Amino acid sequence: MEQGSIPSPHILIFPAQGQGHVNATLKLAELLSLDGFKITFINFPYVHERLVRNTDVEARFSKYHGFQFKTIPVCRPDDPQWTERLRKLSVKSKPIFKRMVIESKPTVNYIIGDAVLGFVHDVAVEIGIPAIQMHCVSACSFWTFFSIPDVVAAHQLPIKGKEDMDRLITKVPGMETFLRCRDLPAGFRQVSDISDPNLFFITNEIRKSQALIINTFEELEGPILSQIRTRYPKIYTIGPLHEHLKTKLRSIGKQELYSSSNSLWKVDGTCITWLDNQPSQSVLYVSFGSSTIMTRDQLMEFWYGLVNSKKKFLWVIRPESVINQDGDNLGEIPEELQEGEKERGYVVKWAPQEEVLAHKAIGGFLTHSGWNSTLESIAAGVPMICWPYFGDQQVNSRYVSEIWKLGLDMKDVCDRRVVEKMVNDLMVDRREEYVKSTARMQELASKSVSEDGSSSCCLNRLIEDIRLMNK
Ligand code: UDP
Repeated sequence: MEQGSIPSPHILIFPAQGQGHVNATLKLAELLSLDGFKITFINFPYVHERLVRNTDVEARFSKYHGFQFKTIPVCRPDDPQWTERLRKLSVKSKPIFKRMVIESKPTVNYIIGDAVLGFVHDVAVEIGIPAIQMHCVSACSFWTFFSIPDVVAAHQLPIKGKEDMDRLITKVPGMETFLRCRDLPAGFRQVSDISDPNLFFITNEIRKSQALIINTFEELEGPILSQIRTRYPKIYTIGPLHEHLKTKLRSIGKQELYSSSNSLWKVDGTCITWLDNQPSQSVLYVSFGSSTIMTRDQLMEFWYGLVNSKKKFLWVIRPESVINQDGDNLGEIPEELQEGEKERGYVVKWAPQEEVLAHKAIGGFLTHSGWNSTLESIAAGVPMICWPYFGDQQVNSRYVSEIWKLGLDMKDVCDRRVVEKMVNDLMVDRREEYVKSTARMQELASKSVSEDGSSSCCLNRLIEDIRLMNK
């Protein structure tokens, strides 16, 4: 779709390597393609190989005129520490990426870089191409990361042992009354020095652009977005992106183009057949996303908690996500789980999560509070039990339980009795209150992506602004 005689701008989109990042940015890429932009979507090779192996992504996107995938030839660094991994990846990628942009045909007019890949923005500035950072996390977690240097400067960190975990952190504006030490990203709980290299690296990376794209919606995170606007007047809140894309395709009669599947793992669809045979809202969906690692002991606590709750469950267990006491990968799901409770539980290695959450048999979601999972649960009106693992997840789970009242927060605890009680609270004893609050938020999410909704208006504004920059 060319606009008159002016060629459509060519946008380059570059996500970070995680499943959640790839999912969200691909959905934005699709929305922009529908508006006539030419898109080049850049991936790291190990991400792209898995995407192609497990999905029909190339065929699907070939339907969009001017859409191409490219890979940047950089290997994955294997440092155990994620900020160190990211730092090495950035150093290796930057010169290669710069050359790709300079040599690109057609010429690149605009760059959307994942906020954790700050070098993408640096390259855009060096070459003189307009660019913006995309945040695949919640506004509340972005704001917490952004404010951590102030928390450290005010000597509110490090946390001094277990007894200190419920102390309030008062230096994140807008969260003074409810953000506790235990709600801070796990990796930053022990920072004591403002010049800590990990802290400096990550807070510097996410602060590069003057405007922000965030996969959230105004009605969910309005108060914190107002705080962020004091520093960033221009924010495009265009989420929940999966719902946005679905609604947009429906509005132009092309709903058959929608596919949730941008999976880096092979999806096991047999669980949908199993769900088809379960009563309405009777099943708890359990998944801890693409990068959570748990010990065998933790896995067994969840297992007994779920079995003792007497509720049915559908559980995603990636075999590589479970380690033994020495930190070695188990490589396979423990036998007890494969043998036991066939009636009540169904275990898969990877599920079609959006379809699962939308299934009428699902009544709750035990989640690691990754941002995509949280938004997908909200859009499907499913209440949550949160067991956050790292990064943004600790803040998200605090918001889910304390601010939005969409579920319960189990963070820092992994005990079969607590699991059993929370499952029963969510599915039976306090069900009414959660069903009410999730239904309300589901409606707001749906409104935000409808024709005149807040997220649609923001996307239209982003599209206009990109076009204006290229006139
Ligand atoms: N997901 C999926 N199948 C699964 C588990 C997860 O399709 O069995 C998808 C899920 O729908 C979400 C993404 O993987 O879009 C996970 O992203 P999130 O931000 O929740 O967590 P992360 O994996 O990045 O920690």
